[in-house]
Amino acid sequence: MQNDFLILGGGIAGLSAAAQLAPLGRLTVLEGEDHLAHHASSRSAALYEPRYGNPAVVALSLASGDFYHGSDLLSPRGFMVVDGPEHETRFRQALKNFDLVELSMTEARDLFPILNPETIAFASYAEHAWDIDTDALVQRYAREARAAGAEIRTKAKATRITRIEGGWEVESAGETYTAKLLINAAGAWVDEVAQMAGIPPLGFKALRRSMARIPAPGNHDVSRWPMVIGGAEDWYCKPDAGAMIVSPAEEDPVDPHDAWADDMVLAEGLARYEEAVTEPVTRLLANWAGLRTFAPDRAPVIGFDSRDPAFFWLAGQGGYGFQSAPAAAELVADLIAGRDPVPERAILSALDPARFN
Ligand SMILES: Cc1cc2nc3c(=O)[nH]c(=O)nc-3n(C[C@H](O)[C@H](O)[C@H](O)COP(=O)(O)OP(=O)(O)OC[C@H]3O[C@@H](n4cnc5c(N)ncnc54)[C@H](O)[C@@H]3O)c2cc1C
Repeated sequence: MQNDFLILGGGIAGLSAAAQLAPLGRLTVLEGEDHLAHHASSRSAALYEPRYGNPAVVALSLASGDFYHGSDLLSPRGFMVVDGPEHETRFRQALKNFDLVELSMTEARDLFPILNPETIAFASYAEHAWDIDTDALVQRYAREARAAGAEIRTKAKATRITRIEGGWEVESAGETYTAKLLINAAGAWVDEVAQMAGIPPLGFKALRRSMARIPAPGNHDVSRWPMVIGGAEDWYCKPDAGAMIVSPAEEDPVDPHDAWADDMVLAEGLARYEEAVTEPVTRLLANWAGLRTFAPDRAPVIGFDSRDPAFFWLAGQGGYGFQSAPAAAELVADLIAGRDPVPERAILSALDPARFN
């Protein structure tokens, strides 16, 4: 049967869009892996810090606030930026960018007791950062989409995409799907999917980011500690279910693949974290990596392809795909339904794929 909408990609982008679009027409989601959210969407730091990112990302993340604060998906976390004595200018810029309040060292160590006063001279804090229950969010969107009649297929990688009269024919795992509109939510693979469909790629880059999970430093109860980020954004740490995750915050360009952490990058990042704290890293509980995918200007790409209006981009969410997803998915549905979208015009043009023409 002909679909109105065929979404390629069962990560947070594809599933949130599916939940919004399923009430508008017949919809199928095709996900190549065995289960949903296998790639970037299961590897994030799960933070909602709406002032983090460029203006288009911040607009979408702030616009997602009503959804998040009206749900049971957030829990308080807090956000701290710290820096060394030689970086006062950079530190003051971060204060402004993230809307933070400067703390004395004593105040900072009350919130994050392992902060090293010998290497860190500046600290600042904001309450406006929360943990997102990302698993629950993914499941919620999948449930909502199915309840509205959507079909969600896993182990269903699209391997051939053909433009036909009035839409598309897509081959996947031995089956053929047809649809009027193809929605490209394939994460790191969005340019690959576009090329399969005969649409020129937009130049996305997949940047690997690694993560280590370590035991609670010094056996502290870390549950109320904030996320702490180094002023150069070259490490961050965050409590995670009684343990801590520490990231080197690297942005190494790679070809799209099932990512894993680079040992050397991880070791160097852990060393930068250790310099800022008073407790050494004694062992790793686990490590992983994910791909953060960016358009050339690092703003998301949301909208109809300028050359083929039967092809819709939902791409380039970078490191902000969860915090921006609720508003991004609403925008997708507004644009496709021809409704007046909520964000301001300036934001819409910052997201429009046509900006790369
Ligand atoms: C280490 C790390 C930390 C992060 N921290 C945060 C954070 O704190 N807050 C935040 O908001 N965001 C964060 N992010 C970013 C966030 O995780 C991503 O922006 C988001 O998950 C991207 O979702 P997606 O659905 O676009 O991509 P993905 O989750 O990668 O989904 C794309 C899917 O498309 C599928 N696919 C590809 N090709 C095909 C095909 N041909 N046919 C069918 N399916 C296909 C893939 O299998 C994949 O499952 C972080 C990311 C990383 C890596």
